[in-house]
Amino acid sequence: MVLVDAVREFARDVLLPMDRRWDVDESSVAEVLPRLGEMGLLALSIPESLDGLACPYRTYAAIIHELAYFSPSTAVTVAVHNMVGRILAKFTADPLRRELLSRWGDPVNFSAFALSEANAGSDAAAVRTTATAVEGGYRVNGEKMWISNGMNARWFLTLVRLAEAPERDGLCAMLVDGRASGVGRTKIYGKMGIRGSETAVIHLADVFVPERHLVGPRGHGLHVCLSSLNEGRIGIAAQATGIAEACLAEMVSYARQREQFHRPIGTFQAVGEMLASSAVELEAAKLLVWRAAADVERGRLSPMAGSMAKLYATECANRIAYRAIQVHGGAGYVRECRVEQLYRDARVTTIYEGTSEIQRLVIARELDSAGVPTC
Ligand SMILES: Cc1cc2nc3c(=O)[nH]c(=O)nc-3n(C[C@H](O)[C@H](O)[C@H](O)COP(=O)(O)OP(=O)(O)OC[C@H]3O[C@@H](n4cnc5c(N)ncnc54)[C@H](O)[C@@H]3O)c2cc1C
Repeated sequence: MVLVDAVREFARDVLLPMDRRWDVDESSVAEVLPRLGEMGLLALSIPESLDGLACPYRTYAAIIHELAYFSPSTAVTVAVHNMVGRILAKFTADPLRRELLSRWGDPVNFSAFALSEANAGSDAAAVRTTATAVEGGYRVNGEKMWISNGMNARWFLTLVRLAEAPERDGLCAMLVDGRASGVGRTKIYGKMGIRGSETAVIHLADVFVPERHLVGPRGHGLHVCLSSLNEGRIGIAAQATGIAEACLAEMVSYARQREQFHRPIGTFQAVGEMLASSAVELEAAKLLVWRAAADVERGRLSPMAGSMAKLYATECANRIAYRAIQVHGGAGYVRECRVEQLYRDARVTTIYEGTSEIQRLVIARELDSAGVPTC
């Protein structure tokens, strides 16, 4: 837990002021990548044999939680890069695996997960980015949308459709080199929250991808992406608990200090109810995250446990952020108040890496397949 403590201190002292600035000017976490690399935070998911930290998943979740408490933008940046590292560790073989992952903690290998497209969000299998087989590899054409880390990533774990097998079994995961000719990036400005996290449209025009950059077997791209997202969702759930805990701390502190009717507002039953409900829901969310992370460590994370943690933690973070504004009254409605930003930062957590509706769909399907009535 020494690393978790160091992350908390670093996030409080260094990231928090930066995060407040990124929110205003929409500059990006990219400026702290070297510091994140030095602390080992870009190689959390990499085996020790490849010079990574081989971080147990509960510790990983605790780190994302601490980062999110002070900088939700940094938390998602680190979570996405480590998710791509885990995918490569699992689905690639030497020499590519060693070549890439032994330097994964170096910001020059910063990465992104490129699944979504303008017409393929919840329905990942609808991707239209096409890979055409050519000598030695593929030519990839298409456009990826909403890609976190997209402006500075060197590597894009990309879901594509083979031109010669356009059905579902033609979906492949490929590692696209951001330095290859034909790769273009357009930053998406004007996001509601997590404005320090880079979000980009990635344009792929006749980009050559060598055969050795195929990740997992041909036709198994959807499996590679979706099975990894199940674990990745725990990272987003941990981001949500970090945001929620920060909101709760702000709420409690304000409720103690703000007086109305000659009493601290925290002594009013209605305000106390908001604090108490938030504390209980946050604790429940943390336990779901903890359980799911422990399941990953045991190698038996079910889709149900991953989805439950993501669904509950992210919805709970939004409820708590809402109450945090309510407890602050008018003071919570302006930018200088931190909960105003946290409220906006929390919002995306029920959307990316699978919306709440998709998590409910997964949970209901799992209940159904286990023979438990769903309604
Ligand atoms: C800031 C940000 C960062 C992101 N980062 C990444 C990234 O790094 N990589 C990446 O690949 N993607 C990323 N995304 C994309 C994100 O994963 C998608 O936005 C998300 O999966 C939802 O897809 P969509 O936006 O197309 O919405 P849609 O799929 O069009 O959904 C719209 C609405 O319909 C509902 N809906 C859709 N299908 C069903 C269904 N079967 N049953 C019930 N309801 C349904 C949804 O729940 C939602 O409420 C990011 C998005 C944002 C906003």
